Amino acid sequence: MAKPQYEGYSTGKPTILVREKFGSVNAYAQNAKSILTKATGFINAYDFTLNPYRGCQYGCSYCYAAAFSPNSEMRQDWGNWVIIKENAAEVLEKELARWDKKDPGKPPSIYMSSVTDPYQPIEAKQQLTRRLLEVMVPYQPTLVIQTRSPMITRDIDLLRQFQRLRINMSVPTGSEKVRKDFEPRSPTIKARLLAMGKLKHNIPWDEAHQAKFSITITPLLPTFPEDERAFLITWQQRIE
Ligand code: SF4
Repeated sequence: MAKPQYEGYSTGKPTILVREKFGSVNAYAQNAKSILTKATGFINAYDFTLNPYRGCQYGCSYCYAAAFSPNSEMRQDWGNWVIIKENAAEVLEKELARWDKKDPGKPPSIYMSSVTDPYQPIEAKQQLTRRLLEVMVPYQPTLVIQTRSPMITRDIDLLRQFQRLRINMSVPTGSEKVRKDFEPRSPTIKARLLAMGKLKHNIPWDEAHQAKFSITITPLLPTFPEDERAFLITWQQRIE
């Protein structure tokens, strides 16, 4: 087994399958015991949260999820590690089948994701979030996806198949300079708005599908006055 990067985390844990460098990030793979977690706190209106990964490559400086790191060393190194829940699709299949047996015809509501971004860069290689969507389609949960990544447009073919879907795109500021200060590794604001436009134009949002598209602005960061006009124009062109 490779020498652990973080003391007290990977040492002696038999579930660690791989350890590799992904860009500047240490990537680990670990099997999850469960993947659907009972939703609590500000998202307790949902039945479950679903996090394909632990940790987040975007490493936003204000991210509350850093507090849920496995240990203090990793908390301080937030943004520089990610753990892939390698068996997530298999576990999800079992958990949804169990739910369906217990409550047939009453699919759960799922919030993906609460402490990671399901479309962070490593998803391009892992396709773990995509596999989770494939598992979910036959069960038709009410699904909320929270992301700041245009990579979500890759999965339009699957997203079109959900009957109750909400996509929240995080856009906390209209100024690139502010974004670079608080979340320098994240996609540009323009790319996010363009992605939302693409989603809105390619996913049905009629009564049968009930797809909804939202821009979430928490935490609300400032937008410089000189950026407001360009931001609003892009917004209007792409979202409205
Ligand atoms: S994208 Fe979300 S989960 Fe990832 S670091 Fe930023 S706020 Fe945290």
